[in-house]
Amino acid sequence: MTDYPARSAQVIERCRQLARITDVPGETTRLFLSPATREAHALLTHWMQAAGLEVRTDAIGNLRGLLPGPAADSPRLLIGSHIDTVPNAGAFDGPLGVLLGLALIEELRSSDASFSFAIELIAFSEEEGVRFATPFLGSLALIAQLEPDTLQRKDDDGISLAASIRNFGLDPAELPATVADPAAAGYFEIHIEQGPVLEHEDRSLAVVEAIAGQTRLALTFSGHANHAGTTPMGPLRRDALAAASEWIAEVERSATSIPGLVATVGKVEVPGGAGNVIPGIVTSTLDVRDARDQVRRAAVEHLLESAAIVCAKRRVNVAHTRTLDQPAVPMDHRLTNLLAAAVTQMTGTPARRMPSGAGHDAMIVARRIPSTMLFLRSPGGLSHHPNETVLPADVEAALAAGTAFLRSLSL
Ligand SMILES: [Zn+2]
Repeated sequence: MTDYPARSAQVIERCRQLARITDVPGETTRLFLSPATREAHALLTHWMQAAGLEVRTDAIGNLRGLLPGPAADSPRLLIGSHIDTVPNAGAFDGPLGVLLGLALIEELRSSDASFSFAIELIAFSEEEGVRFATPFLGSLALIAQLEPDTLQRKDDDGISLAASIRNFGLDPAELPATVADPAAAGYFEIHIEQGPVLEHEDRSLAVVEAIAGQTRLALTFSGHANHAGTTPMGPLRRDALAAASEWIAEVERSATSIPGLVATVGKVEVPGGAGNVIPGIVTSTLDVRDARDQVRRAAVEHLLESAAIVCAKRRVNVAHTRTLDQPAVPMDHRLTNLLAAAVTQMTGTPARRMPSGAGHDAMIVARRIPSTMLFLRSPGGLSHHPNETVLPADVEAALAAGTAFLRSLSL
């Protein structure tokens, strides 16, 4: 009989052990190809080799462990997530997917089940985009979509990405060998939800149907700055901040009326603002996300229209630029249905399906390889924070569902 509670405790303990490996003492901060990353690789390599994996570090710094299949050309399932972190991170965003993947491999090897496919466990070197201010370096390299220009990007110390790879003892010329084996036929990522939905519904797990698409805009509201004391209220004022505020309230109202859509104004500035001056210029952001591209596009158009209407009434001009327009990424139907069936079987209730509002490596890998994702409840909805955690029972449920998924899978 499988001892899921013991395996779950070990996964959590390993995540905590990894979290103590940090570039900044007293917190968990592990940036791309940093000294802490080297130390994390050593520990992970030790665990992976003990599980019988053939381990290598590829040229973008992804740590990869292969469990060969029955034949040299057996189809290959990739299981992965990332081991870089945001500054002052928690222990589970990323590493949980790697260490649950390892635990699944250990579980399968301890049973006498035989598999028709190889499994490659990948600890992606970079997902958060902190060091070079651009995310997904590890997964982009895996699917041969790391732009050559990216190698010239510099970190805050003026070190280029190419130099950081060389400094780690790797060779940028070897990047082509980072690309996934042609036999790779599926990708499976386990991640914490990073939101409050599963906790609110008192569920352990969810199957991700799609990674939401995103539109980000930068808006400028231009009115007329004037004396706060001598300009009467009413039509003689052209207050850019009052216009922006009326519009922001409409953003919230309007997004609330569309289930599944989220729209956020996260940053508003009054350049040169002062307490006794009517705001002449206001800049703001707008972030709109939905798993349905047509819903997101329609919402963006509607919100821009309402900005124009609000501003016309106040004789304020509004202009916008799009800083990001990223379509939704659906997960693979077949793999996702298999995963949902495994979750339903192991939890005894129909699997919850949900979109991911945050980006993940699976969103990049899915461009080339059929991909599926499993979410675990985030207690307190918390992530990117030292108090980020998981419940042992949820890790057990993920192990049980993951094992059932792998047993039901053919590639
Ligand atoms: Zn993550």
